[in-house]
Amino acid sequence: MTVNPSGWRPAAPASEQGRGETVTGNRALMLEEPLLFEIGSTEQTGVDFQQLQPAATRLGSLERNRPIGLAGLSEPEAVRHYTRLSRQNYAIDLGLFPLGSCTMKHNPRLNEKVARLTGFADIHPLQPVDTVQGALELIDLVGHWLLTLTGMHSVAMSPKAGAHGELCGLLCIRAALEARGDAREVVLVPESAHGTNPATAAFAGYRVENIPANADGRVDLDALKSRLGPDVAGVMITNPNTCGLFEPDMKAISDAVHAAGGLVYCDGANFNAIVGKVRPGDLGIDAMHINLHKTFSTPHGGGGPGAGPVVLSEALSPFAPLPFIEKQGDGFVLVEEEIAGEHHSQSFGRMVAFHGQMGMFTRAAAYMLSHGADGLAQVAEDAVLNANYILRSLQGVLDAPFADSGPCMHEAIFSDRGFAGGLGTLDLAKALIDEGFHPMTMYFPLVVHGSMLVEPTETESKASLDQFIAALRSIAERARAGDQSLKAAPVHAPRRRLDETLAARKPVLVYKDPESAQAAE
Ligand SMILES: *Cc1c(COP(=O)(O)O)cnc(C)c1O
Repeated sequence: MTVNPSGWRPAAPASEQGRGETVTGNRALMLEEPLLFEIGSTEQTGVDFQQLQPAATRLGSLERNRPIGLAGLSEPEAVRHYTRLSRQNYAIDLGLFPLGSCTMKHNPRLNEKVARLTGFADIHPLQPVDTVQGALELIDLVGHWLLTLTGMHSVAMSPKAGAHGELCGLLCIRAALEARGDAREVVLVPESAHGTNPATAAFAGYRVENIPANADGRVDLDALKSRLGPDVAGVMITNPNTCGLFEPDMKAISDAVHAAGGLVYCDGANFNAIVGKVRPGDLGIDAMHINLHKTFSTPHGGGGPGAGPVVLSEALSPFAPLPFIEKQGDGFVLVEEEIAGEHHSQSFGRMVAFHGQMGMFTRAAAYMLSHGADGLAQVAEDAVLNANYILRSLQGVLDAPFADSGPCMHEAIFSDRGFAGGLGTLDLAKALIDEGFHPMTMYFPLVVHGSMLVEPTETESKASLDQFIAALRSIAERARAGDQSLKAAPVHAPRRRLDETLAARKPVLVYKDPESAQAAE
């Protein structure tokens, strides 16, 4: 097959080349990459099929009546395309990933090896249960670790992400309240909660009411107490919260909510800050999701795979979703439907077609078993230590709004206060790209103006933290001095500053070749 020459277009006239422009548009080993549609051609294909017999007889009127319009490429062209694109991306395997509220930690390669064992990787959810006993045992094992670490009564393993777990927890709360004939309408969500919390409560049919944060960045206990009443189904508290702070009043909050007849949901996505240190079951929590893809490693991002098991109190356990795994005799069964009169006959129903995400469970099990309970406690200690190291190293040069509220947990929060010359958080974040780092989480949480949320995680060495701190310190000093060259950042990335508003409001998702687009105009 021939290579489509249209994939290579001279980018710069010879006269420009002395000024750093190259003929290819490439910069050293950072390669420019057009779209597949631009390098490939619908006239060619990367595979040699024999001319097929017409299939019309079998497909009838369903036969395709016009070409599908996909570009054909040879295998090396296709491989290079995706490899080049991947090099324009940033990854945890390239460097520190400071996103807060996201826990981008190193994923041990041992996890990957275990997850690829064919006995786990190649099974099918519809396989007879007696042929997947090992897989069920592994899910049960992960569930037991979660119960031990949280001190809770039962666990629903089927939710597929953190937000999905929140929905599971709220549906349990709804079922429990309805079972006692006391359906309530309102869920209270403090300002320091993750954004998914109010969204979940609204999705579950509740009216969401905000509880303000106090000057410390924590839940205002008195404001919460004064709002409790017979219409309040429960609260959703993120702990540690999105300001990176532990909520020390958690037990008092739970007691007050229970006394008013409500139930307590805790967003446990930040469990990596307290794992092995605090048992949510001791704090009066009724339901809490755990992001296996954050606390217990497993790669994620870009909407990638996750798992959000939900641990439940004794009060909510009867309402847990189907299906779930139960040990019976020497083996395990998958309970798929309600059986009248049995302890799970009050289940609120089913959230997923199939039980669980085997790849996540095997990685989490490998992480738990390889660390052990003491190793997991050290995960929390090191995550918290690293975040405090960043907080204290930068608080002189970056405004740290809660620096006086005591140590932070797993993430440190800064603001753009003190920047001069109209510079803000966005300029600092873009300049960080030029220094070779992915930006931190920006403008979240909303309680802090121009907030920057940094979570280093426990997997970074002191040397890599020092390098990150040095980069951030130098950019922050430039921002305080009003250095307008920051407005141009990033200058070393494959693309300069993109129009993010246009990209969000008018995304171009479908390729149209320039000729037919022109003809249509
Ligand atoms: C990540 C996160 C979530 C959402 O988890 P997903 O798996 O992305 O749905 C919810 N709450 C907090 C505090 C989080 O950090």
